[in-house]
Amino acid sequence: MYAISLDLGGTHIGCAIVRDRDVLAHTSIPANARAGLAPLLPHLHSTIDALLTEAGITAADCAGIAIGYPGIVDFRTGNILSTHKKYADAIHLDLAGWALENFALPIRMENDARMALLGEHFAGAAQGHDNVIMMTLGTGIGSGAMIHGHLLRGAHAQAGNLGGHLPVDFHGRHCTCGNIGCAEAEASGWALPLVARDWPGFSRSTLAGLPHISFKQLFDHAAHGDQVALAVQQHCLEVWASNAVANVHAYDPDIVVIGGGVVESAHLIIPFIQHHVDEHVWIGGFRPKILPAKLGNLAGLIGAVPLLSEEIAAAIL
Ligand SMILES: [Zn+2]
Repeated sequence: MYAISLDLGGTHIGCAIVRDRDVLAHTSIPANARAGLAPLLPHLHSTIDALLTEAGITAADCAGIAIGYPGIVDFRTGNILSTHKKYADAIHLDLAGWALENFALPIRMENDARMALLGEHFAGAAQGHDNVIMMTLGTGIGSGAMIHGHLLRGAHAQAGNLGGHLPVDFHGRHCTCGNIGCAEAEASGWALPLVARDWPGFSRSTLAGLPHISFKQLFDHAAHGDQVALAVQQHCLEVWASNAVANVHAYDPDIVVIGGGVVESAHLIIPFIQHHVDEHVWIGGFRPKILPAKLGNLAGLIGAVPLLSEEIAAAIL
């Protein structure tokens, strides 16, 4: 099956032509999620045309257009239910009409974390496993859950997606979701600078001279022995590990796949979370394997074929 695949990120949109597990052509275009999707549609159209040419096929060869959206989406109805201020105008856009008019193709949309899980299940770290949690550690903490080979969606399309908003500290920080002490509020890309700046001794840390603190910089400074960086790194590892235990208790997976930019430091993160899970999940219960994601930014794009292949009537979970 050929498919057109789009992955709507905060600062760029990934675009690809895929054939089953292979990405035939891909690129990304700059975007600003807060400025909306409508201004980008002409550029998306021309980008898709160029990728089809590069792949040597036409839109008529494709089964449809799959879109990974950074919010809560009910793929069964095609409705966007919650935007979290990203591409908020998409709620009112007739994307199905746009796809039909320009490419004569149907469209299917799903949450971006679920798309990444579909991709990793189809062609990456979760191949061969049908009970999977994926945690994506990035600007936020995304998650998806697959049970018996089916994506878990729930009555309001949010089941499994809010794993990053399971609280790890009820005395903790206020989260953008309205909750207190979510894993995302304690150890995500947006929370990291706030956590670091509040850490005792921060003004004497080498991190204090940085205009912005990313996980890569945190790990680099920790590796060079900065005591605050080491302490904040430990805090983040403990938050992620605790969040993994919560997800394991909630969904009973065989494996937990960890994705996002931090996977570059998988040698540090994976053994830590594995050890914590082995120590702290339900006594006598199954200990799932913790694995790094394999497909990086392509995971969501490779989720296109499984999404377009899914029988909507069968999506009961
Ligand atoms: Zn939250």
